[in-house]
Amino acid sequence: MLKKANSDLVRRQNRGLVLETLRQHGPLARITLGYQTGLSPASITSISGQLIDEGLVYSIIEDEEVSTQAKRGRPQTRLALNPQATNVLAISISVDGVELVFADFSGATREPIKLRLDTYATPKEDFGPRVAHEIKANAKRLGIALTSIKRIGVAVQGVADTISGEIPWSPAFCARDIPVVRPLERILSIPCSIGNNANMIAEALIATDRKKYGGTTAVVFLGHGVGLGLILNGVVFHGANGRAAELGHMNHIPDGPLCRCGRHGCLEAFSADYGIMRMANDRRGTDFDVHAAVRDDDMRKLELAAEAGDTVATNAFNRAGEVLGFGIARLIALINPQRVVLAGPGTRAYDLLKDSVGEALRRGLVHDLRKNVEFEVVPFGKDMIATGTLVETLRHLDRDVYATGQKGTVVEFSGRKIA
Ligand SMILES: [Zn+2]
Repeated sequence: MLKKANSDLVRRQNRGLVLETLRQHGPLARITLGYQTGLSPASITSISGQLIDEGLVYSIIEDEEVSTQAKRGRPQTRLALNPQATNVLAISISVDGVELVFADFSGATREPIKLRLDTYATPKEDFGPRVAHEIKANAKRLGIALTSIKRIGVAVQGVADTISGEIPWSPAFCARDIPVVRPLERILSIPCSIGNNANMIAEALIATDRKKYGGTTAVVFLGHGVGLGLILNGVVFHGANGRAAELGHMNHIPDGPLCRCGRHGCLEAFSADYGIMRMANDRRGTDFDVHAAVRDDDMRKLELAAEAGDTVATNAFNRAGEVLGFGIARLIALINPQRVVLAGPGTRAYDLLKDSVGEALRRGLVHDLRKNVEFEVVPFGKDMIATGTLVETLRHLDRDVYATGQKGTVVEFSGRKIA
């Protein structure tokens, strides 16, 4: 019995390994797949045969021109993930809207679809059903059968509870504890999971360059809020229920300025776009609503004013950088990262922040603890969040669904099985 269980486990691990290797490297000849996975030629033949029979993998026979250039003059075949095997969907929820990105099993995506949904004013019980309705309508429009979508991944700005599938709090909503996973699963009969958008950016970076980001890396998101994706030993750390690494809501000063989470003095109350804009407005005696999204062109005007030497604007960016620098100093002392990556739309103004970030790091942390940490600012595209969500969603299918070989039986988020 134990022997059977062990052989099932090995088989599952090997199938998952083959799928993940093809996902990471793209189409591979069997011999290269064997080299990359460390599996024997017999194992590769057996597993690839099963995966082809199940429609998850297919053979690409190189065209004649290529084959004549091949060493033995014979057509070469490579194995690839079958795009038609299944579809997945990434949903991104942020303070300025909800976006859908459909992708096939190979990870190829369709054009992002921006939904017309006023998340802030939507009653919390209506949110899931409205998104489900939009998914149905858009899938139909694109000719994607709902039954072909095997998993949905949701990324949210704010706090995502990976156990309950709810959003305890997000600046995108007026309400708290918004149910997302359960209504989507109930209405669409598609397994669904939820995570924080900074974690999804971390997933996207690992998928882009595992060697560079796959060790211990802190991915700091700057923009409408301040988030953190924490990569520990190559794996994104979620904590007990997905609420880990809320750098933006670590307290900087008790009873400080109001944060969007409702507390006072959080780091992001200084360093998010609204924190910077509020500081400038306060100095100028202008009213400011913390809960309203900061318009990009207003932020751009403030950046230009700071670049032109305006004292009020410069002071606001300096203070934001200082608070951010002290936060990163604590983070470095805690996890000893190889690399700190700054991402998000707020990095556009990083030149205005970096001197005060550097000064705060020097004041906040002994040289020995910060000397080997590399800093990097990565160009941010919104697609990083969707990419990371799709990476995580497809990895779940590779490892936990298709690796088992029980096609069609998928374990739902809540642990319930659905057909
Ligand atoms: Zn807060």
